[in-house]
Amino acid sequence: MDIVVRPKILVVGAGFAGVECVRRLERKLGPDEAELALVTPFSYQLYLPLLPQVASGVLTPQSIAVSLRRSRRYRTRIIPGGAIGVDVKAKVCVVRKITGEIVNEHYDQIVLAPGSVTRTFDIPGLADNARGMKTLAEAAYVRDHVISQLDIADASDDEAERAARLQFVVVGGGYAGTETAACLQRLTHNAVKRYPRLDPRLIKWHLIDIAPKLMPELGDKLGSSALEILRKRGIEVSLGVSIAKAAPEEVTFTDGRVIPTHTLIWTAGVAASPLIATLGAETVKGRLAVTSEMCLPGHDGVFALGDAAAVPDEAKDTDGAVCPPTAQHAMRQGKHVADNVIATLRGQRMTPYVHKDLGLVVDLGGLDAVSKPLGVELKGVPALVAARGYHWAALRTGVAKARVATNWLLNGLAGDDFVRTGFQSRTPATLRDFEYTNAYLTPEQIRERTGTV
Ligand SMILES: Cc1cc2nc3c(=O)[nH]c(=O)nc-3n(C[C@H](O)[C@H](O)[C@H](O)COP(=O)(O)OP(=O)(O)OC[C@H]3O[C@@H](n4cnc5c(N)ncnc54)[C@H](O)[C@@H]3O)c2cc1C
Repeated sequence: MDIVVRPKILVVGAGFAGVECVRRLERKLGPDEAELALVTPFSYQLYLPLLPQVASGVLTPQSIAVSLRRSRRYRTRIIPGGAIGVDVKAKVCVVRKITGEIVNEHYDQIVLAPGSVTRTFDIPGLADNARGMKTLAEAAYVRDHVISQLDIADASDDEAERAARLQFVVVGGGYAGTETAACLQRLTHNAVKRYPRLDPRLIKWHLIDIAPKLMPELGDKLGSSALEILRKRGIEVSLGVSIAKAAPEEVTFTDGRVIPTHTLIWTAGVAASPLIATLGAETVKGRLAVTSEMCLPGHDGVFALGDAAAVPDEAKDTDGAVCPPTAQHAMRQGKHVADNVIATLRGQRMTPYVHKDLGLVVDLGGLDAVSKPLGVELKGVPALVAARGYHWAALRTGVAKARVATNWLLNGLAGDDFVRTGFQSRTPATLRDFEYTNAYLTPEQIRERTGTV
């Protein structure tokens, strides 16, 4: 009897890039052509752009956790765990399963799509006192934490404590930070109706960024509109300012101000997943340097894309430009890399990835939004329709679409419940714990496991 050995394609990461890639491989490759496996710590694809709406309670966490198992057609073997190292010489990916067991997964082709983690700097106290906005657990934690502050302030008779509990600091004026600050400010603003003992004048949100402009991708006019909306709503926006140090009960800004607060949300950019460093290959600002076909030069069968890779931006004239870390690119790169993987299996030519940016949508909570789809500048309700319509259409399953639409409707009609679930109140709550940044092996440890020299 002949035993047919199928090439094994291993995809790492079930985010925008990884899931699009796997789905296309499943559709276009016959079951006899290749064996497909996906390494992912979670059994869902997280729709990250709607995370601020989970933090602010507009959406439930489940509604943006899109199932990986909602079809009988899906035939990929899902390995529940995280990749902690890759040896490209030995063609081995080291995986820590969710049980803690460490196993070697051999591959013929590997697609690296582990995304990014929150970028931090060496600022005293930051790692221990800041929370990010990158995982579902972080969003749920931040929501509980903010509601806790309202509850504690409401119950306290100590004026200083009430004031400190009701100040909140968000660092990062990109879309993630701006949406987070705007959506959460709305939550605390609406709380006044349900917390009659709270003095609304004490609730204060700070949004700070070291850059001179908020969301520069929006352009000057729309950026100013966003700034105006936030300031009108009482959010204190400080540009050209960062954090000098952070402590559990206060944050010091670089302009010398000391803010008594128990809430520091850090969204000042992203860095490629630490998995990339384990390859010991060339990087561009931490992202794996790949060709426009998304291949690692010098190593057959290694592809990387999304936030983790520096994919040349062929749609721009600028030399050395790389695609920005956005879902818009990651999804399209996912499809394209699948075509290139198939091309190599079938001995065909790979093609370069080219995509011209379609713009940006920013939901600021309530009826406030600014958007720039295809270069058209919108604000207010038309921008909100563009933002929500875009995200709704981009959700992958009908069930996820239904959950999100129902949540939007319900929240619009009934408002927030201010329920503090307490699920995570006793678990560690640092960026490290949420994003597993210390889980990875060094290149030497990987070589020891795989036996390569
Ligand atoms: C709050 C927020 C708002 C945003 N808003 C927008 C927006 O409006 N528009 C836009 O275009 N982009 C937006 N982005 C950016 C966008 O979400 C990312 O660029 C996009 O998710 C990148 O896709 P990816 O597949 O590379 O990574 P991800 O979607 O992050 O997926 C990576 C996956 O890999 C998994 N993973 C991580 N490490 C490992 C490992 N070691 N082993 C196995 N699996 C691993 C993760 O669990 C995750 O499932 C936003 C991001 C945030 C945080």
